[in-house]
Amino acid sequence: MIVSWNTTNKCNLYCSHCYREAGEKLKEELNTEEAKKLIEEIQKAGFKIMIFSGGEPLMREDIFELIEYASEIGLRPVLGSNGTLITKKVAEKLKSVGLMSVGISLDSLNAEKHNKFRGDKNAFRDTLLGMKNCRDIGLRFQIHTTVMEWNKDEVIPITDFAVAMGASAHHIFFLVPTGRGENIEEEVLNRDEYESLLKDIMNKQQEVEIEIKPTCAPQFIRIGESMGMKLRFKRGCLAGISYCIISPKGDVQPCAYLNRVAGNVKDTSFNYIWQNSSIFKELRTQDYKGSCGVCKFKHNCGGCRARAAYYNNGDYMAEEGLCIYSNK
Ligand code: SF4
Ligand code: SF4
Repeated sequence: MIVSWNTTNKCNLYCSHCYREAGEKLKEELNTEEAKKLIEEIQKAGFKIMIFSGGEPLMREDIFELIEYASEIGLRPVLGSNGTLITKKVAEKLKSVGLMSVGISLDSLNAEKHNKFRGDKNAFRDTLLGMKNCRDIGLRFQIHTTVMEWNKDEVIPITDFAVAMGASAHHIFFLVPTGRGENIEEEVLNRDEYESLLKDIMNKQQEVEIEIKPTCAPQFIRIGESMGMKLRFKRGCLAGISYCIISPKGDVQPCAYLNRVAGNVKDTSFNYIWQNSSIFKELRTQDYKGSCGVCKFKHNCGGCRARAAYYNNGDYMAEEGLCIYSNK
């Protein structure tokens, strides 16, 4: 099981799609003591992998201490970062405190386009330097790309770039309009483009050694299985089933893009929320509506519950409209 914690809302970039609308630090963010308590509760609840993300997690002063704490109590800590602050010294420090891997965001191989989307004129240069620093000191890293209309033709070239850079994986996030991302809703691929790109990705997976993982696009399971591929992943949408996310203030949500609060870790233990929240319980029924409800892939795919909610007035059990199996 995997959990993400958005450690802070503070960020040195201003990305157009940011689901947390990151920028400034929030007053109510978990302090070091509260964060350590949360890490303990996560470990006791049976989670194995803990993603420290943000905002930009490296803007938190206690980030190394918290990663080290997670590692010491048996979790596998990983970082979700824009990569721009990963100097060689930072990479070494991250490795020394037990970090397993860093996910670094890259949306285009064109510096100008990437910089425009990320809101900083040096983002591309610094992100690539961050990757290089990880590689040089032997810290595992992977590339994260958010796919939209403007960069959909760059996905496969970025996989080739990831291979050339020595990344361990390329994770491809399909835009779900949330936070600032709602302002670029028109960038969401249409159903045919979505299906076609997923097929291209699954074909590419058969050519390259590194892992390519479509994220927020659970239909990759249906497509991979119908292509006869042996997939390492058994389930598409993990929200509330084997995954959840915690906001900087301690709100627990099924996933970053499904903006429903199951409880807050400042007043209720994480494990209690994970076991008992009505949102998680409902998601676990897998009792979906419409096409997803009658689909033979519903237990492996599950449809994107966040997208279902966004396009169906908040109904996260509705059918997923971007699937070619959908009735819409
Ligand atoms: S609801 Fe599921 S598929 Fe959609 S973004 Fe969240 S975890 Fe991913
Ligand atoms: S209909 Fe729903 S469950 Fe079936 S493949 Fe499409 S999104 Fe997945």
